[in-house]
Amino acid sequence: MQKIVVLTGAGISAESGIPTFRDAGGLWEGYRVEDVASPEGWRKDRELVLDFYNQRRKGIRNSQPNPGHIALAELEKKYEVVVITQNIDDLHERGGSTNVMHLHGEIFKARSTVDESLIYDLGEKDIQVGDKCARGSQLRPHIVWFGEAVPMIEQAVLEVMEADIVMIIGTSMVVYPAAGLVQYAKKDIPIYFIDPNIPNGLNYKNLAAIPKKASEGVPEIVKKLIRE
Ligand code: NAD
Repeated sequence: MQKIVVLTGAGISAESGIPTFRDAGGLWEGYRVEDVASPEGWRKDRELVLDFYNQRRKGIRNSQPNPGHIALAELEKKYEVVVITQNIDDLHERGGSTNVMHLHGEIFKARSTVDESLIYDLGEKDIQVGDKCARGSQLRPHIVWFGEAVPMIEQAVLEVMEADIVMIIGTSMVVYPAAGLVQYAKKDIPIYFIDPNIPNGLNYKNLAAIPKKASEGVPEIVKKLIRE
């Protein structure tokens, strides 16, 4: 069975009503990214950070996977598929994908601030100031903030190295190390890039650039790959 590695960014969830922040001029729902998605922001104002993610969680709960997420799940009928996403939402899982790696964490999980291995499913709950882990420290969102290490990156590199086909969907390719992953792909494999704004200067050998929205471009390519 051939292996497809799919690299996704905020753009695949845009049509589900979850805004990308680069499209909103660097603001994320009206907040400065440094205030709500960095260790400095957390040190300065925990309540603001927790409120921000509590609101985002509500928005994501009320959103639905779009035809882009759903088409990717279809690929599993014919291929081994690994989705490596920068997104913190759960729309790939709800769209039916069964092998999803969240490089930047997951909004429906919380973790300890003294022990990174203590991770909790939030279910219907939010996180408030005063909510503690088993070791008594404040809980924080299980999210990789700007300036923090990306613990899953090594595993992601190994997946990309094994790919027979790569798809890249809805990412501006400016957030590292995620943007560098594709460099680890074998040199002659097909790479499909689906985004209405394909970044300039990509020099992959077999690049097929599809300047379309995810809900249109992804089902189109999936159909082609299933037919092949
Ligand atoms: P980005 O905001 O930098 O770029 C978004 C990309 O999506 C752009 O290239 C844009 O052209 C494209 N896009 C917009 N509408 C699209 C559509 N309908 N179909 C396909 N593509 C579309 O996003 P990024 O590169 O993912 O990096 C931003 C960071 O922000 C990531 O680290 C991510 O964790 C975080 N983030 C996550 C979410 C989420 O979980 N849904 C939302 C916003 C930001």
